[in-house]
Amino acid sequence: MDYLKEMEGKSLHDRFDMKNIKIIRSVWVPGPVIVGAGPSGLAVAACLKQRGVPSMILERANCIASLWQNKTYDRLRLHLPKEFCELPLKPFPQHFPTYPTKQQFVAYLESYAKEFGIKPQFNATVKSAEYDQNLGFWRVRTLGLKEEIEYICQWLIVATGENAEPIVPGIEGSNDFVGTMVHTSSYKSGEAFRGKRVLVVGCGNSGMEVCLDLCNHDARPSLVVRDTVHVLPREMLGKSTFGLSMWLLKWLPIRLVDRFLLLVSRALLGDTTHLGLTRPTLGPLQLKNMSGKTPVLDVGTLAKIRTGEIKVCPGLKRLTRNTAEFTDGSAGDFDAVILATGYKSNVPSWLKDNELFSEKNGLPRREFPHGWKGECGLYSVGFTKRGLLGTSMDARKISEDIDRSWKAEAKHLKDLYSLPTSSL
Ligand SMILES: Cc1cc2nc3c(=O)[nH]c(=O)nc-3n(C[C@H](O)[C@H](O)[C@H](O)COP(=O)(O)OP(=O)(O)OC[C@H]3O[C@@H](n4cnc5c(N)ncnc54)[C@H](O)[C@@H]3O)c2cc1C
Repeated sequence: MDYLKEMEGKSLHDRFDMKNIKIIRSVWVPGPVIVGAGPSGLAVAACLKQRGVPSMILERANCIASLWQNKTYDRLRLHLPKEFCELPLKPFPQHFPTYPTKQQFVAYLESYAKEFGIKPQFNATVKSAEYDQNLGFWRVRTLGLKEEIEYICQWLIVATGENAEPIVPGIEGSNDFVGTMVHTSSYKSGEAFRGKRVLVVGCGNSGMEVCLDLCNHDARPSLVVRDTVHVLPREMLGKSTFGLSMWLLKWLPIRLVDRFLLLVSRALLGDTTHLGLTRPTLGPLQLKNMSGKTPVLDVGTLAKIRTGEIKVCPGLKRLTRNTAEFTDGSAGDFDAVILATGYKSNVPSWLKDNELFSEKNGLPRREFPHGWKGECGLYSVGFTKRGLLGTSMDARKISEDIDRSWKAEAKHLKDLYSLPTSSL
């Protein structure tokens, strides 16, 4: 008998101690489940909290804003002025500069989470989420450090971001290349590349800024520019280019604003085509609207291209042991390659839904401002291609919408429980 008890105790103990054993349990969440504790997840949780609706955030990393904390370079500042990047209900501190550093932005997000009592469930990677038609609820499965949990909820808010996974292009010969090869999500500073010949692939905001950072650390960067690109000064006529564009768009059609931006850019930056940076036929704002492609806001890179400290190269054809061959037949030797090739959404890998999100790119099928709401209590926040400004708009709309059904349900329950027992 004692022997059996001992065995029973041991097997119970083993269930929880043995490595690789996954324990599946179900948890009912009375309010919405939010996937992702980046700025978007925090913003929507705060707006809900303000209306008295509790929510639960599931986050795969062990901190909030993991993109900003773990996957960005040291010298990063907000690309846009702070007034266009603050989250709902809490402005940036007054002493913050116009373009806060990433450390300041993270500090702001941390105090934001604290102020609204937001405590995400960390190390909880959402592996699947599916609407159970029979049950009338969402089943959200997470893989944590020790166990699998299934959360059951009525509302599901997707806040995993447009930048959830790095895009690593297949480059011919990349396995033969003997130098360092990293994506910008792992790049911290040019310090590690001092004195080295570095090929930066991709000429968006990150690629351009990484080149500048490499220059400032005495590395020798070359920038691969395969496509056309709009480079604009970060400021014009004493105002931020972004702020000025927003203001002009109130009065003028987008085509005229684009022409104005290009005229002033030409006056301030000169003809970028001479530097190997050909402009697209469509204007910068029209292009952004139609394809989501963001114009580059110059923070000093163009000056370094002009002095020859940064070399511009055409499309990359293939890599060999330590050489890069380009589409125009030229070649050069390099010690390292940095892929500034962007990010993509990971929604199709875990969300079973064919309606709100496109399987192709993991973004809402419907264009802004119509992509924030799906069927059966499904929402998306932060997928507008409009940065943090879009996040704030989504967060407000979602919280208002959920609040309405939350209150209607509370009233329904109250009415139900206040009925005389004989009528039940
Ligand atoms: C270098 C850089 C600079 C930028 N500068 C600006 C700027 O100045 N202004 C601006 O408006 N925008 C800027 N952006 C865009 C920026 O990404 C967004 O504005 C902001 O981070 C988006 O917040 P988010 O919460 O939607 O996404 P993210 O910040 O990407 O947060 C998503 C969160 O979801 C988590 N997650 C993902 N998948 C899962 C899963 N399956 N399960 C659980 N958790 C998951 C991630 O770990 C992450 O913490 C910049 C982006 C980059 C890369």
